[in-house]
Amino acid sequence: MKEEVYCYTCGNPRGDLTEWRCKSCGGAYTLEHDNLFSQSKIINSRFNMWRYADALSPSIRENPVTLGEGCTPLINPITPNIHFKLEYVMPTASFKDRGSSAVVSYVRSLMKRKKIRGVVEDSSGNAGASITAYSSFLGIECRVYVPKGSVGHKVKQIEQLGGRVEEVDGSREDAAKKAQEAKDPYLYIGHAWSPYFIEGIKTLAYEVVEQLKWSIPEVIYLPAASGTLLLGVIYGYKTLLNSGVIEKCPKIVAVQQQEVSTIHDTFYGLPSHRSTYSGIADALNVKNPPRLNEIITELRKVGGEVKTVRRSEIIRAARELGLMGMHVEYSAAVAYAAFRKKLEDFIYSDTEAVIILTGSGLKSI
Ligand SMILES: [Zn+2]
Repeated sequence: MKEEVYCYTCGNPRGDLTEWRCKSCGGAYTLEHDNLFSQSKIINSRFNMWRYADALSPSIRENPVTLGEGCTPLINPITPNIHFKLEYVMPTASFKDRGSSAVVSYVRSLMKRKKIRGVVEDSSGNAGASITAYSSFLGIECRVYVPKGSVGHKVKQIEQLGGRVEEVDGSREDAAKKAQEAKDPYLYIGHAWSPYFIEGIKTLAYEVVEQLKWSIPEVIYLPAASGTLLLGVIYGYKTLLNSGVIEKCPKIVAVQQQEVSTIHDTFYGLPSHRSTYSGIADALNVKNPPRLNEIITELRKVGGEVKTVRRSEIIRAARELGLMGMHVEYSAAVAYAAFRKKLEDFIYSDTEAVIILTGSGLKSI
């Protein structure tokens, strides 16, 4: 079975199994393998994302590190054609668990060849907590670098799960740089950089297709920040298309908040809008996503769109979701905030839509 890891920007192949970025141009790595998706190869005894192990990369699928992630509900509180995918119903209450399960499974496969005492990440948010949970389950350390003064439930969640929070005097970027200095026997596995993280997210596309009885929705709304969710979903549908399971990809609508809209502005060729402000959707305050070029290219290839929403629209969307029984954080509510502007078009038609709800509201009480 073929598995290739190479730089998305310059095509340079990865030199070493532990390299996290391209040595030639500094770009992010992407992963390609020839495992296609087959309905007959779904492992029905597994009620987690590893039921699709046959379609995942050879280096992660043999010994999955799983906390039962995936198999999240798809519900229809408004009309039967409007589906909400509850990705916050996960072991650490965010969609990141799909990616963490995959990337920590990769670490486990590396441990057969080299000594790894722990992993290093740079997120004070959902990814930090998620990577920590899977590292603790595997029995290795997890160090999470955060800017000094980071507080809140997400940092507490990292600590409660056994992660070591390392405060860095400086910005979010300074924390990332410090994390990236990790040396043996510690391994940097930044979620925005790891192609295995995105490999895990592909299972979200597989799951939605299975839940919709092998049909595809017309459109999928999802929040976008570092783009791992966006790329994972696009790559998942591409695999389904290449496997002959579906005949076309759904339209992907990526949603950002107005204050931090790098993907939106780049996609539409608008003047760089890298505001010094942060938005209310804290998980989406990513001003310089490492995979920006890949995000724009892949989104254009599938005919996607990017929307932005205002703070007041996010607050209203979160409240409306709550009144329908879905308690999500603001970063998840942005997808519905954009969708609800088109709500009537869907209520009075049979057109199917999926809105992905990424993080639990319990994280920000
Ligand atoms: Zn490169």
